[in-house]
Amino acid sequence: MASRYDFDLITVGGGSGGVRASRMAAAFGARVALIESAALGGTCVNAGCIPKKLFSYAAGFSGDFADAEGYGWRLPRPDFDWTALRAAKDREISRLNGVYAKLLGEAGVQLVEGRAMIRDAHTVEVAGRRLSAEHLLLATGGRAVKPDIPGAELGITSDEAFHLAALPRRALLVGGGYIAVEFASIFSGLGVDTTLVYRGSRLLRGFDEDVAATLTAELQRQGVRLLPGESPAGVTREHGGLRLALASGGELDTDLVMFATGRRPNVGGLGLEAAGVVLSDRGAIRVDEHYRSAVPSVHAVGDVIGRVQLTPVAIAEGAALARTLFGGRPTTVDYGNIPTAVFSHPHVGTVGLAEDAARHRYSDVKVYRSQFRPLKATLSGDAGKVFIKLVVDGASDRVVGAHMVGAEAGEIIQGLAVAMKCGATKAQFDATIGIHPTVAEEFVTLRG
Ligand code: FAD
Ligand code: NDP
Repeated sequence: MASRYDFDLITVGGGSGGVRASRMAAAFGARVALIESAALGGTCVNAGCIPKKLFSYAAGFSGDFADAEGYGWRLPRPDFDWTALRAAKDREISRLNGVYAKLLGEAGVQLVEGRAMIRDAHTVEVAGRRLSAEHLLLATGGRAVKPDIPGAELGITSDEAFHLAALPRRALLVGGGYIAVEFASIFSGLGVDTTLVYRGSRLLRGFDEDVAATLTAELQRQGVRLLPGESPAGVTREHGGLRLALASGGELDTDLVMFATGRRPNVGGLGLEAAGVVLSDRGAIRVDEHYRSAVPSVHAVGDVIGRVQLTPVAIAEGAALARTLFGGRPTTVDYGNIPTAVFSHPHVGTVGLAEDAARHRYSDVKVYRSQFRPLKATLSGDAGKVFIKLVVDGASDRVVGAHMVGAEAGEIIQGLAVAMKCGATKAQFDATIGIHPTVAEEFVTLRG
């Protein structure tokens, strides 16, 4: 029997979650349309993970040049060309936009360009057209928010940081989370005089305290100025630069203010209220364990549901939804032990519980930690140390947290995350033979 709808699924948002859900739904045989108002790939591809990591690689070379000297390399004084990096990054992003379009086309997903608005439980309006589907998926992501202070418009967010006409001489970052810390390392590594202003007493709230303390010390050692316990009160133009007023009464002069003060779900102008979709107190679309909103035919995944704002999570949610709706297997994402990395210099990698969270959950917690100078630093002379830590539930001997600050921490923690997903115990870590000489081998030689 022919369907009463134009499509089986209409997805709004061509980012990490929307693209994965659409491609998988089409592979299950569904007729799918995807509506995107900007560039395909969403935040991760265009203004997030990918350009950020490319910039982070660029910043990392400054340390590499210094390290190389200790190994006998004699280099001319390196010269950095920001516009060359920006252009190379833009070319790579354009290539990725094309890859996404091709993948969607090959999957048989119909791409519709424009801004979508929900008209009713099965209808979306885009570019003056009305399209209907049995299921609607909202995967509209999130957007950066600036503090509500006078002159906030003079500051940028990470969105604009990817397109600066020139690198500033001085930059001031507001916030102490992922984006603030990553961009502090990017700017600092590229030679910008960098200051990080954050309202808490420590960086990376929610991460293990030892991890945050180690990163704080490393950033300071590299010359990033850290101002904890300070909130922004206003931004003004002064003498061709900018001045950030602090709530404590102080003032800071700079050339660039960047707010990295969190992101909110992208729900504005979607017509959600009229359609009956319910939002949480924090403005995220409220969904059940199968990503269904208060309107049974309307679903949502990714940053817009405000759970874990990471690309692999949005992708996993999109896949789970496609399987639930069209694969005949109701699926939900397991949110336990999600590994994550912060691409500061040095990197932070973490999976599972921070020590204080473990102490809240378990009565007998064992902690193993080590801080050491990696072999590479012996000849390079770099004073930076690697920090690693395992948090273990004493009763079961299971490793419930693994943390690292050091080069390629994300690469190392990814492997440990598999072990933890399998319920690995400390005894099993100890029984694992290390790979010598590596930094990662320290995780299997930690003793109490
Ligand atoms: P998005 O990728 O944001 O996609 C939403 C899409 O919906 C957008 O393309 C938008 O244009 C479109 N859209 C919105 N409204 C409409 C509408 N009405 N009509 C049509 N289209 C619409 N995560 C990691 O895992 N690792 C990282 O290293 C990392 N780095 C990051 C760095 C930065 C600077 C930022 C900002 C984020 C970073 N993230 C990282 C987070 C990651 O980018 C997001 O979690 C992920 O992109 C969320 O995917 P999504 O599908 O929910 O939304
Ligand atoms: P985060 O939530 O990580 O950090 C926001 C920071 O801004 C916190 O330090 C917060 O302080 C502070 N803040 C919030 N509001 C104000 C305010 N009004 N005035 C002053 N400070 C304020 O958000 P980000 O913007 O850094 O990143 C958003 C999300 O994107 C991340 O949580 C992460 O999920 C994802 N992301 C992932 C990356 C990765 O995987 N490597 C990289 C970048 C982003 P407080 O702690 O006191 O609330």
